[in-house]
Amino acid sequence: MNEKLFQIENLVREFLLAIGEDPEREGLRLTPQRVAEMLAELTSGYRTDPKELVGGAIFTVEYDEMIVVKDIEFYSLCEHHITPFFGKAHVGYIPDGRVIGFSKIPRIVDHFSHRLQLQERLTEEIANFLMEAITPQGVGVVLEGFHLCMAMRGVKKQEARMVTSAMKGLFRRDPRTRAEFLELIGQGKG
Ligand SMILES: [Zn+2]
Repeated sequence: MNEKLFQIENLVREFLLAIGEDPEREGLRLTPQRVAEMLAELTSGYRTDPKELVGGAIFTVEYDEMIVVKDIEFYSLCEHHITPFFGKAHVGYIPDGRVIGFSKIPRIVDHFSHRLQLQERLTEEIANFLMEAITPQGVGVVLEGFHLCMAMRGVKKQEARMVTSAMKGLFRRDPRTRAEFLELIGQGKG
């Protein structure tokens, strides 16, 4: 990664020149290094294995009611503009003999957020990963995201939020399960 960091630093320096800045002025002297380090952190999802992330945190239980973790903050980068999009993720599942440690769900959200993304794909990837990791009866994922590429430029809609959902297994097949989930995360009707 060190060599790559250095490569990104150089590119940021060139970018500063290209927009008409002076990369040697005091305020900018360390900017290429800072940006490279920040980008490494924001794209760490390319270099971590989500299976290691949840290793040891899958437990056998008899519980078979819905489990919901809501209002999980996420921060990601839009792959079309490399600008942030961020908001809340809500994740629900109905176990089939196995549950995952509560704190692991936000980590899974972080893992898939930390790369260039589309909100639609991010939503799907979180749902698919949980389906594979604990083979539950079903999974529901809803993301509400603010996209800076939409707020700061183009159509300049500051308040618009994008809502995406991925419903798997029972959450897809059974309208009552889906309705219960949407109700619990405050997205139900009425
Ligand atoms: Zn964008």
